[in-house]
Amino acid sequence: MPRPLFAGNWKLNLLRAGAVDLAGALRKGLEGEKNVDVVVCPPYTALAAVTEVLKGSAIGVGGQDLYWQDSGAFTGEVSGPMLADLGCRWVIVGHSERRSYFGETDEAVGKKLRAAQKAGLEPIVCVGERLDERERGVTKEVVGRQLDGALGGLTKDELRKLTVAYEPVWAIGTGKVATPEQAQEVHAFIRERLLKLSDAATAREVRVLYGGSVTPENVRGLMEKPDVNGALVGGASLKADSFLKIARG
Ligand code: PEP
Repeated sequence: MPRPLFAGNWKLNLLRAGAVDLAGALRKGLEGEKNVDVVVCPPYTALAAVTEVLKGSAIGVGGQDLYWQDSGAFTGEVSGPMLADLGCRWVIVGHSERRSYFGETDEAVGKKLRAAQKAGLEPIVCVGERLDERERGVTKEVVGRQLDGALGGLTKDELRKLTVAYEPVWAIGTGKVATPEQAQEVHAFIRERLLKLSDAATAREVRVLYGGSVTPENVRGLMEKPDVNGALVGGASLKADSFLKIARG
């Protein structure tokens, strides 16, 4: 089983002072924690300050998005080398909020994840169906299309260096968490897809996180499922207390 990973997506929240306080509290609370990997993804404006606070700790830092070009006339964008230069080792790619509010396609997600890996970052690639898609019974079709669109053509070595996050859109920020059984069903499907794209050892090694209204109260049930290797956490990652409870168990 891969080592569990808990990633906090701070989204468009926190000014530098608040981000530094939160990172400091997480550093203190996770000192000596050896059984899980933890990553935080602050907004761009707080990345430098947070990487400074977490320097020398086991907590990784990631961006919430990146552009696929390294540099050039792309106003407002941030590239993989820029994130790496700040000390990031991770980046979220294809979050449903990027897909729905900013029109990100599977093709763009694929380009972003390749750019991330080229810059030496580990992408956390998000997939997940909307409520209407789940109700129409096309969850696996949607997730399969998102996976093939983003991951198709990657080598086994490239696949090994990424994390997938299954985030049903209807569960993100809604307080409506997927049941452990619902999560496991889709996670097992993702694992099968990874197997089709690589081999058994690679498919086993890739971490598949669950995301969507994860709290200290519901995380254990999810983590008991064999194909759930951690969580991508939004709201509950903004308070040290709740994120520490989630990560430490
Ligand atoms: C997310 O944004 O990735 C997320 C899972 O948010 P929340 O935990 O708030 O549902």
